[in-house]
Amino acid sequence: MTAERDRAGGATDGDGAAEASRGPMSAAALLELADPAPAVVVQEPEYRRLLGWPREHEVTGRSLELAAWARSWYAGHGRPWWFARQAGGLSLAGGRVEIEGTAFDAPRLGEMLAQAGATSAMLVAVGAGGACEEHARRLWEEGKPDEYFFLEVYGSAVVEALVAAAAFRLCEWADGRALAVLPHYSPGYPDWDIGDQGRLLDLVGLERRGDLPEGVRALPTGMLRPKKSLLAVFGLTPHVERVQRLTTLVPCANCALAGCRYRRAPYRRPLRQLESVHPSPDDGATAGAGGNGAGAGARVPLTAGARYSVAPAVLRRWADERLRMRCLADGSVEATFRYDGTTCSNLGQPLAFEYRIRLASREEGYRIVDLSCAPVPGDLGHKFMCEYLADGEALMRAIATERPLLGHPLDAVVGWRRGTSAAGCYCAASSREHKWGLALEVLHCALAREDAPVAG
Ligand code: SF4
Repeated sequence: MTAERDRAGGATDGDGAAEASRGPMSAAALLELADPAPAVVVQEPEYRRLLGWPREHEVTGRSLELAAWARSWYAGHGRPWWFARQAGGLSLAGGRVEIEGTAFDAPRLGEMLAQAGATSAMLVAVGAGGACEEHARRLWEEGKPDEYFFLEVYGSAVVEALVAAAAFRLCEWADGRALAVLPHYSPGYPDWDIGDQGRLLDLVGLERRGDLPEGVRALPTGMLRPKKSLLAVFGLTPHVERVQRLTTLVPCANCALAGCRYRRAPYRRPLRQLESVHPSPDDGATAGAGGNGAGAGARVPLTAGARYSVAPAVLRRWADERLRMRCLADGSVEATFRYDGTTCSNLGQPLAFEYRIRLASREEGYRIVDLSCAPVPGDLGHKFMCEYLADGEALMRAIATERPLLGHPLDAVVGWRRGTSAAGCYCAASSREHKWGLALEVLHCALAREDAPVAG
C-alpha cells in the first residue's frame, strides 16, 4: 500500500530564484510517496529479456524450472519497497543540475530537464531487498551457480518492476495536476558519474522513513548495497506540450508497465541485457564456458575466493591504499594502481610507478582492454635502476610496451604462470611481469570483493 505525504515548499528555475508564486508547480505542496511492501509484478517478457532469452525462444526443462523457482522464491521471501520524494529546489543554471543545493555534473540530464522546462524533480529509490541477494550468495557458496544466477536476474527484474510501479504513481499524480513526468536518469547513465550515487542517496533522505523495510548504502565506487537497488531522478514539467512534441522526453518508451492508462508512447524493449546467460544443455545447446566453474546458466566473471600469489589480506590492504577505481557510464572500469619500490643497487633509491588498467564491463567479463605502466610524475628513483643507467631508452620502452593479458578477461590473472622475481626494481622482465601480476591481482581482489554477494 502506498503512503503519501504532502510537504510545503517551492521550486527554483534556471537562475536559481525562488518560485514561490510562479506556475502550477510552485503552488503545489511537495509530494512524498512510499510503498514499504508493494505487490511486485515482474512481467514474463521482461524477465526473459533479462535472462537473455530471445522472445521466440522456447524454454524447456531445467531452465524453465529455475526461472519459475526464482520467481516463487522471491514471492515467498522478497522484501521490495520504493520511495519517492519531490525535491524542494531544482536549478539548471550554468548547465549544471542542482537539486536542493547539491550540484551534479550530469550534462545529459541537465539538457533533458532544460529542454522540457522542468521546474522540479522527484528523487526515487527502489530496492528488491537484501534477502534475495543474501540467499543468492548462499546458493553460490553451496555450489549452486544456476540457482544463484536465476535469483540474481530475478532481483534485477524486480528492480525494473519497482521503477515502473513508482513511475506509475508519479504519472498518475502528475496527470491530475497538468504536469508531465520525464524519463528517469541515474548516476552511471551516460555523462553522469556513478560515483555520485552517495550524494544522490543523501538527498533522497531514506533515513527519515522508518516505515521502509530496509535502506541502501552507497560504496565509494558508486555501487549500491544491497545491489538490487536503484536511485533515480525523474524531472517534472508543467510544459506538457513540449513533452508531447518531443518523444525523447516521454518516459513511456522505457517503461514496460502493461495496461497503463496514461501511456503516451509504446514501450521499446531495450537491446542491452543486464546479465549474460549461456543456454543450458536442457535447451538443446552447449553450455558456455562459464569461466569459473559456473554451471548451465551462470557466467560469473571473477573467481570467488581465488588463490592469489599474495595473501588476500595484503591485496585488500593494497586495494584500499593504492588502488583507485571507478565505473564509467558504459559499465567499463578504470583503475590506477601505485607501486612503490626501491632500486636494488645505488643505495636503494625509492621509485614509484603507476599502472593504468581499463576493463570492459562486467557483462563483457571484465576483459582487459587497455594497460599502461609509467613512473609517477616527478619520480626520479627509476633513473637509478641498473638497466636504466645501462640503456634507459630500451628499459623504458620495454616497461611501456609490455602489456600482459591484454585482451583476456581479468580473471585470467588467477593461475597466470608468470615471472616470480620480487625485486623492487624493473630491470628484469620477470620482475616487471611479477609487478603486473600484483597490480592485476589487487584489482581482481577489489572487484571480486564488490561483486561478491553481501555476507550475512
Ligand atoms: S507507461 Fe508511461 S505513463 Fe504509464 S507509468 Fe510508465 S511512464 Fe508513466
